[in-house]
Amino acid sequence: MKELNRSTFLKYSALPLLGLALQKCLSLQSKPFLQKEANFSPTVLVIGGGISGICAAMKLQEYGISAQIVEAQSYFGGRMKSVLNDNSVSAELGAQLFNQDMKEIINLLERNYLEYSSVYGDGNTFSLNATGKEVWDEDSNIYDWIDEEKFLTKLDSKDIDQDFSLSEAIDAMTDEKEKRVLLKNMFRELMGKNPELVSTRGTYELYKRFNSERDADELHCENGLGRLIESLIQKLEYAPIHSYPITRILWKNGKFISTSKKGVIESNYLILAVPPPIIQKISIEPKLPQAIQKAISSFDTGDMIKITLVFKEPFWRKKGWNGSFVSNVYKGVTVIDSSLKNQKQGKLVLFIGAETALNLSKKKQEHRQEFAYNLTKQAFSENWQMPLEYYEGIWVKHPWCGGGYNSFVKYGGTPNAAEVLRNYNSNLLFAGSEISAEFPGYMEGGIRSGYSAAKKIHSKIKSQKVKP
Ligand SMILES: Cc1cc2nc3c(=O)[nH]c(=O)nc-3n(C[C@H](O)[C@H](O)[C@H](O)COP(=O)(O)OP(=O)(O)OC[C@H]3O[C@@H](n4cnc5c(N)ncnc54)[C@H](O)[C@@H]3O)c2cc1C
Repeated sequence: MKELNRSTFLKYSALPLLGLALQKCLSLQSKPFLQKEANFSPTVLVIGGGISGICAAMKLQEYGISAQIVEAQSYFGGRMKSVLNDNSVSAELGAQLFNQDMKEIINLLERNYLEYSSVYGDGNTFSLNATGKEVWDEDSNIYDWIDEEKFLTKLDSKDIDQDFSLSEAIDAMTDEKEKRVLLKNMFRELMGKNPELVSTRGTYELYKRFNSERDADELHCENGLGRLIESLIQKLEYAPIHSYPITRILWKNGKFISTSKKGVIESNYLILAVPPPIIQKISIEPKLPQAIQKAISSFDTGDMIKITLVFKEPFWRKKGWNGSFVSNVYKGVTVIDSSLKNQKQGKLVLFIGAETALNLSKKKQEHRQEFAYNLTKQAFSENWQMPLEYYEGIWVKHPWCGGGYNSFVKYGGTPNAAEVLRNYNSNLLFAGSEISAEFPGYMEGGIRSGYSAAKKIHSKIKSQKVKP
């Protein structure tokens, strides 16, 4: 999720860079790691090879507990998916941005010698209306339009167990109609759904868990996050298995028997690192407790398309534009400059959410391409250039990841569904970005949630007290 106003960024000093270079040289001298074949009777089976599953397996390995990852798709990383080129990245089709308070993703990048830099933050931002651009003040932040007091008054006016739609909440946030429209469009992009379908209390729970005062989109990885995934996967003791969707989980005689069309894996513990709406596709026997089932079915998937346009240069900067703008013509469309420091080329990324994404997903690629070209041409008509490359990530009704950016608690669902899943204490644990206690909906949340599930299993094994 992103905010429009980007603060200036601290550049990392020369000293840590030197340290990094030294570590890199030393690591080249260390022995190559020999990965063992897949383990079909591990202590822990981790279902889902996204960042949360990978981090759960990594942590278990650190604790000396055997863990095996199985992944439904033909690649690992889930919603982290890069189109890589020689030493950089052509496009991030999924996750891309993070901030300096997201310590775990930064830690992983540094440990794997991957570079990150600040996102371009200068220049003017605007909203694009049918009649043209409306430039925002340099310091204007769309979230400043939210009258928090009004919102909280509205929240307090209802009983604690009485939920209302995010659309109703936005109506209470500001008296200005135009701002309401723009805020609703922003939330369409952030949640990937029409705010009428989103739970206010669920969203409020989510925002309370974002433990940072900084914008979420300060930094990005120069080499491509796909390289981080590759690097982490290679360090796992047991080779993760891809193209292995689990369809059935049976708890029998003190063991989990997890079945895919390709085979069966037995384990003592299970981590389900699969987005909540996708869990519903797996048959679990005996059935999970009612409260857990209710929490799982409280989530719905977001609809999101992410398009990257690569230009010869970031031409928009010449006229003092920042590159980022929100469309008021198309609902739920936000654009940012995502050019990398190490590349001369300019990149604009279009985040397209909710109904607009759903409609575009039904069209051919040519149509989406034309949409992206026309929108950016309309925004920067003065000196628009024909893009050199086009990339798209379609995260609409995604069969394995649910959608984009994330799943969310729908209006009518259990607002604290994430907490319910996170705190489920059995030999089957849930992990995933959505349910994380911190930074939910971000890679950082996925990492922390994976670590946390692994830590719980470690404690259970240590105490040997907990029975399924
Ligand atoms: C377009 C887009 C842009 C985003 N931008 C950002 C960003 O800039 N910054 C940020 O921090 N976050 C961003 N996010 C969100 C971020 O990508 C996710 O929150 C995070 O990657 C989720 O990780 P995860 O491991 O919880 O889930 P996932 O990545 O969804 O991993 C779950 C895995 O489980 C697998 N699976 C599902 N069912 C089964 C089964 N039955 N058997 C085996 N495997 C199964 C899936 O194939 C998938 O690989 C973005 C997401 C999208 C889609």
